[in-house]
Amino acid sequence: EAIRIADLAQQMGIKAQDLIKNLIGMGVMATINQSIDADTAAIIAADFGYDVEKIGFSEKEFLAPVHEDKEEDLRPRPPVVTIMGHVDHGKTSLLDVIRKSHITSGEAGGITQHIGAYHVTTPRGEIVFLDTPGHEAFTAMRARGAQVTDLVILVVAADDGVMDQTREAINHSKAAGVPIVVAVNKIDKEGADPDRVKRELAEHGLVPEEWGGDTIFANVSAKKKIGIDELLELVLLQAEVLELKANPNRRGVGHIVEARLDKGRGAVATVLIQAGTIHKGDAFTCGLHAGKIRAILNDQGKMLKEAGPAMPVEVQGFDGVPDAGDEFVVVADEKVARKISDSRKGKQREKELAKETKFTLDKFLAAKAGEKVKVLNLVVKSDVQGSQEAIIDALNKLSGDEVRIEIIHSGTGAITESDILLASASNAIIIGFNVRPTAKVKDVAEQEKVEIRFYNIIYKLVAEIKDAMSGMLAPTI
Ligand code: GDP
Repeated sequence: EAIRIADLAQQMGIKAQDLIKNLIGMGVMATINQSIDADTAAIIAADFGYDVEKIGFSEKEFLAPVHEDKEEDLRPRPPVVTIMGHVDHGKTSLLDVIRKSHITSGEAGGITQHIGAYHVTTPRGEIVFLDTPGHEAFTAMRARGAQVTDLVILVVAADDGVMDQTREAINHSKAAGVPIVVAVNKIDKEGADPDRVKRELAEHGLVPEEWGGDTIFANVSAKKKIGIDELLELVLLQAEVLELKANPNRRGVGHIVEARLDKGRGAVATVLIQAGTIHKGDAFTCGLHAGKIRAILNDQGKMLKEAGPAMPVEVQGFDGVPDAGDEFVVVADEKVARKISDSRKGKQREKELAKETKFTLDKFLAAKAGEKVKVLNLVVKSDVQGSQEAIIDALNKLSGDEVRIEIIHSGTGAITESDILLASASNAIIIGFNVRPTAKVKDVAEQEKVEIRFYNIIYKLVAEIKDAMSGMLAPTI
């Protein structure tokens, strides 16, 4: 438990500057917005004639255990799938055709609701689709610590082949460790060449099974509804390997898929339940917010009393609009929910004031021997292909056994929002060579606390990274 220097000074009725002076005397360097631990606080308070009483608040006590499920309590659950791919390759069309052909709208009032995710039943099993296609949403959630996707369907148009965003989607999925099933779309089109797509993807490490690899490919046409059932079957086949399970009989936990403010109903959010079961009337915390479940609706607008693992449902009863990716956790009662939310709001304020960067080259430099940070993740963007290749080549040569360089994504062109999110989700640093981010992208980098380093001379770039790496090496005796 830590306390902010400004708060401690205020509680003791002294000037923060005086407190900081005494801290420096103890060898502790801190600024007014930083926090010190309880023990240090006790010592420094004693200097001023105060006793510090520890009234720790640990939200862990109140949250349902997340990792304590016994094997026999686990039940199979459907896979959660995100569709990715280059723009216009057919992501939306595929999502639509799957939804339309597999949701039973026969029920009374069966109007499908767009809640950000939907659930389909096939003869072979159930699948949940996240409705926001693309790697941006996927990685934005990951940057918040939420990995809800079990499997990615990578859509590649058979008449267009592997493009920029195809490559990005592959790198984002790989960085997340999520397996890919390839859907070669638009096979109805003249000029469609599925084999070319296979060759191009094989170059990116997605080698089809018939060529000795382990990537599953399906030829489809979203427009002519060809191969859709086969694709779903292959997705379920791939999911079986993952042995996805969850315990339905515990307090519900999940993540926010999307959220909005509804005029009549207040803050509503789509929650993807990941373990346990949520019930109407349950109290919960979610990010900085709290609430009590007033209503649960499924993707067909049907009212439910409860919802279990891998079900996407719309929940009403939030005291504010949460963010996509926020964790949703059922707790004992509303009092606990409020307490946790208050404590988080306090911590959030502290963090904002401290403006701490997630991961920087300096931190990397400062990492001491014995610490585990031995992989330097980089996203590299440069102006032209030629310098791009030279930089990657030079960086790969720096990579060694003790400190490894992982270039998790690279490309030519400006630094984009999705680069920032990928870096944020993967604790990576962005290297920009002869490129600049737009003002908007700069804002996102600041928000996500991602470091971008700019260079226009290759040897300087390489020298700095090299220094950072040797700073991490254990001293040799
Ligand atoms: P997204 O940007 O990846 O979501 O792509 P869309 O689903 O919006 O599709 C882009 C365009 O390709 C639209 O005009 C679709 O009608 C068309 N399209 C999608 N799938 C197919 C297909 O299987 N065959 C053909 N011929 N056109 C398709």
